[in-house]
Amino acid sequence: MRDPRYDILFEPVRIGPVTTKNRFFQVPHCNGMGHAMPLAHAAMREVKAEGGWGVISTEECEIHPSSDLTPYVEARLWDDRDIPALALMCDKVHAHGALAALELSHNGPTASNLYSREVLLAPSHQPSKYGYPAQARAMDLHDIAEYRRWHREAAVRGMKAGMDIIYVYAAHDLSLPMHFLQRRRNQRSDAYGGSLENRIRLLREVLQDTREAVGHRCAVALRFATEELLGPGGVELAEAQDIVGMLAELPDLWDVNLAAWYNDSVPSRFAREGAQEPFIDFVRKATTKPVVGVGRFTSPDTMVSQIRRGVIDLIGAARPSIADPYLPRKIEEGRIDDIRECIGCNICVSGDMTISPIRCTQNPSMGEEWRKGWHPERIAPKASEARVLVVGGGPAGLEAARALGQRGYEVHLADARRELGGRVTREARLPGLAEWARVRDWRLGQIGKLANVSTYLDSALTAQDVLDFGADHVVIATGCHWRRDGFGRSHGLGIADFADNARVFTPDDLMDGRWPEGRVVVYDDDYFYTASVVAEALRLRGCEVTYLTPDDTIASWSANTLDYRHIQWRMAELGVVQRVSHLVTGYTGTTLALEHAWSAAASSLECDAVVVVTARLPDDALYQALKAREPEWTDAGIRSVACIGDALAPGLIAHAVYAGHRYAQELDARRDGEVPFKRHFHHDPTRT
Ligand code: ADP
Ligand code: SF4
Repeated sequence: MRDPRYDILFEPVRIGPVTTKNRFFQVPHCNGMGHAMPLAHAAMREVKAEGGWGVISTEECEIHPSSDLTPYVEARLWDDRDIPALALMCDKVHAHGALAALELSHNGPTASNLYSREVLLAPSHQPSKYGYPAQARAMDLHDIAEYRRWHREAAVRGMKAGMDIIYVYAAHDLSLPMHFLQRRRNQRSDAYGGSLENRIRLLREVLQDTREAVGHRCAVALRFATEELLGPGGVELAEAQDIVGMLAELPDLWDVNLAAWYNDSVPSRFAREGAQEPFIDFVRKATTKPVVGVGRFTSPDTMVSQIRRGVIDLIGAARPSIADPYLPRKIEEGRIDDIRECIGCNICVSGDMTISPIRCTQNPSMGEEWRKGWHPERIAPKASEARVLVVGGGPAGLEAARALGQRGYEVHLADARRELGGRVTREARLPGLAEWARVRDWRLGQIGKLANVSTYLDSALTAQDVLDFGADHVVIATGCHWRRDGFGRSHGLGIADFADNARVFTPDDLMDGRWPEGRVVVYDDDYFYTASVVAEALRLRGCEVTYLTPDDTIASWSANTLDYRHIQWRMAELGVVQRVSHLVTGYTGTTLALEHAWSAAASSLECDAVVVVTARLPDDALYQALKAREPEWTDAGIRSVACIGDALAPGLIAHAVYAGHRYAQELDARRDGEVPFKRHFHHDPTRT
């Protein structure tokens, strides 16, 4: 049962006219499903309500065609026809005793209007934020009145959908009330520009409008950024303190955080649990209204400390609720070690960024609640008495073994190494990635509770071992390794001088303890996190490091996980030299021959070693050997052999966990030849 130390987390909190049953508050988060996939969206939110969150929020919700966020798929309340999609969510959230919250937003110059083709709106004339080749126009007083009307009407629609809390949004550099606040976006000389009182006028008005429109039924929340870390052009802490003082009692709830999003949802590599505290802790002292804040909180002790020390009243969470929708319930039931802690990898964010349904490294059911019927806690019991042998205990093998074990199968998990976790164990030792070990630790904790799962370390299995073992089903999850030959996106024929060169290292060499010294070039044709982590590690070991890439910037894909800017800052801080848009054409062991990606100009770079981060190859020798002996399977009692995760196709840790989970879900249940998930066909494209 619940530890009394955590009782405080389960106290109800009054928020204006509504009361939340506890202090667990799922703050707004994007999910890539939004208005396009309302059934999937509602089912995802429902699982969190079922898991005990007291408040469940939507993502940003567009209020008008001039706030169109295309191609991003968020919520939408342009007119009454958008109400039913959000009512779906409200009904499901209410069914579990939780409150539903709606984050209304009109992003002005940070919208796109790519679908609606409306002209972007802004406090003053200015470029659109995301580099679209059109400017936003300055709003006149009529536009401001219209915007206020749209916001009021959207609030009423939200109330009709069943929302209990309506947000006014002034955070993340993403909404007009915030844009009017920012000196860099507001050069007006009328009553809405200039002095701070003038710059907060719109925010004050919209808060009052919302209260008048829906305040009798709904709480009015203000999501407010206290610091943008941009200096005087942005909202700064000192000014934010004045603003909170001026508006202290106007909203029913303060939801406070840092802007922009990359400073708010910071990856664990760059920020620890509770890192926002110094920027938001003043708010609680300036208002009598409840305050919610975020900090990737997964530890109930940290949560209690935040409340007891008067930092916040409500534990805000996006990522921890994605990684574990049942986090509150687990605390309530005294099952602390069952909490599936977020690792701070931000793969969830990449769903929104790539306009695809949200996925999570830790929680493979995220985004699959409706379309595949997956649940983060429940899984169908086994459909046969099969014994399953899982070879390889990385994220794929661990998750397969865990979920198969949960289904009740007799599971045997063997790994060649003396420790489980595969790549997660190895990568978590690199600078900044320690929390990634949670992928392993949660699974080991769960497996430890399952009597039907046996694990074998130090057990490098051969095809003969597998045939002798006597399993009905065999899962090969033996991982992959980094290539040494330079093959990758930019070098389809590899780099001739790399393959057998003792001065060429791979990330695996480093993780195995074989480190280069002196002047080292990290050659990145992979574009995500690995090269920058390697560069950081080498720098910390005293090497002179050049980050070289054929791409036009370093770590380009990491923009999708909000790592990019932090990586740039870290590389600058560490003195890692960058050389972009260059290909390697040869290496003597002391001199790299380079070619400029666009001009083809030749140049050279002296170095003592190269770490090559280009592509990986599956370690699938065991799988191939077993395939070659398929005629012997029947005699060995083997009914199937599958290859999953990095051993099938190298990918993210998220892909490996997903592959392991999918294997377990589909054992004895796979239906080949069908689309493996439900799709939305709610739109009849022939109707207007
Ligand atoms: P994934 O990301 O797909 O889970 P990893 O590389 O993280 O892959 O994990 C693969 C694991 O498989 C490693 O721990 C490795 O030691 C183990 N392994 C590889 N080959 C064998 C084998 N023949 N027998 C047992 N374990 C193996
Ligand atoms: Fe946390 Fe990563 Fe899951 Fe996002 S994807 S919730 S950061 S574990």
